[in-house]
Amino acid sequence: MIDRTMRASRGLPRREVLPLDGDVSFADDVRAAAADDFGHVIRRMPLGVLRPASARDIAVAVRWAADTGRGIAARGQGHSTFGRSQVDGGVVVDMTGFDEIHRTGDDRLTVGAGATWRSVLAATLPDQLVPPVLPNFLDLSVGGTLAVGGVGGTTHRYGMQTDSVCELEVVTGEGRIVTCSPRDNPELFHSVRAGLGQFGIITRATLTLIPAPTRARRYTLAYPDLGRLAADQRLLLGEDRADHLQGAITLDAGPDGDARAWRHQLEMVLFHDLADLPDDDAVLAGLADERAQAQIEDMSYVDHVEAFDRFTELVRSTGEWAAPHLWWLTFLPGSAADDIARAALAEVAPEDLGTHGMVVFSALRTSRITTPLVRMPDDDIAFTFNLIRFAPPGPVVGEYVDRVLEQNASLYRRVLAAGGVLYPVSALSFRPQDWAEHFRDLWPAVREAKERFDPAHCLTPGYELIVSG
Ligand SMILES: Cc1cc2nc3c(=O)[nH]c(=O)nc-3n(C[C@H](O)[C@H](O)[C@H](O)COP(=O)(O)OP(=O)(O)OC[C@H]3O[C@@H](n4cnc5c(N)ncnc54)[C@H](O)[C@@H]3O)c2cc1C
Repeated sequence: MIDRTMRASRGLPRREVLPLDGDVSFADDVRAAAADDFGHVIRRMPLGVLRPASARDIAVAVRWAADTGRGIAARGQGHSTFGRSQVDGGVVVDMTGFDEIHRTGDDRLTVGAGATWRSVLAATLPDQLVPPVLPNFLDLSVGGTLAVGGVGGTTHRYGMQTDSVCELEVVTGEGRIVTCSPRDNPELFHSVRAGLGQFGIITRATLTLIPAPTRARRYTLAYPDLGRLAADQRLLLGEDRADHLQGAITLDAGPDGDARAWRHQLEMVLFHDLADLPDDDAVLAGLADERAQAQIEDMSYVDHVEAFDRFTELVRSTGEWAAPHLWWLTFLPGSAADDIARAALAEVAPEDLGTHGMVVFSALRTSRITTPLVRMPDDDIAFTFNLIRFAPPGPVVGEYVDRVLEQNASLYRRVLAAGGVLYPVSALSFRPQDWAEHFRDLWPAVREAKERFDPAHCLTPGYELIVSG
């Protein structure tokens, strides 16, 4: 059922009828879709789903939630894995209609927070411009990745996606529509970027753009072990040799089709135009890869940034895309990353990762990340260390979910003790004391910003950052 009011429904008193330009749906199928996400583990049924026509609609709904003691959260593309955009008995704001895009300067683009990175790219490429950092998967929403940080293959050079945002329009937890930037309302700007939806719902973002590369020369290098994969990434970072850098550890299929040996691989890309082809010998000089296995491919920049689509096609075809995804993502301190990762992987059995599961192990410079709420290990270099898990297709028994969630928790304790930090898109039960440990010295400021911008604690309850009552 579609309605234009936050109305007397399910026992809500009459005075809660609020006029909206957009729609609210109370239909069971719409609410059920908003009670699920890419993780398919947590399910929390909202009261209704708002499809806002304006920031004002979101402000009205936020004020209503704050006044009635309910929760409210934005939902971009629903790719979080642990119920982070879900709201039990509250309002989910479907941001997909908030997707307008327009140029606001030579190197600036203003986008609705519900736009996907794929549509951003489609809008900028005709002008030979691109955002400095793109996620692997282009069908994530701008608001969804800015709420967590946004890592990509160029993060080692340009930081997180939140580092190249110059202005945001936000609806705060008090239902105020506020524009913020490093100059205007800087406290809100610094809180909302990677702020896990705790301080405001982003309605619009102005992004900085850089000149678009034309071509991508991709070097896929094999390594006999984790140590050499890590060492070469440190070397490449030190010389700033790669434009795109992504390490991966996968499980090879054994002779009987059973997956079983770890395979270590580095994908390094140099952008160029054809007049300026990289010298392969110079690019590969001094690297310790198994050179006979090196693959070099030249492709358009677009083919490069869309490469992940081929992987998603594969896992869609096997049914793994629709199965539960208990993804676990962290950053390890660079100086000890190989030891920590090796010890952690000793606990992971092939079936815990899944047939097409993989481990991401990529180096970045922590100094390139300037967003205050993005937590990084206390080291010059950090490695992303992510378990991209795919449950077996078909009905998944609770035993798998329970076991893998337990493993996520125990691996996290191990990584935390070794100086690593969580990337908060992980499938992991986190309570306020865990968030306090995560934010460490920033925790008092996080609490203070919460009281200031969301005093009723109505925004994005799915992170369980603050448990009221
Ligand atoms: C296949 C796949 C590939 C991925 N690749 C990458 C990657 O390369 N790099 C990376 O960094 N991450 C990656 N992720 C993780 C992803 O960035 C996060 O899960 C992201 O939050 C999902 O975006 P979404 O639009 O689906 O957001 P949703 O799942 O809809 O929302 C995620 C969280 O953000 C909040 N949120 C959404 N929109 C807004 C808004 N407008 N204002 C405030 N809060 C908002 C929600 O309330 C929720 O808490 C990947 C995830 C998947 C499933």
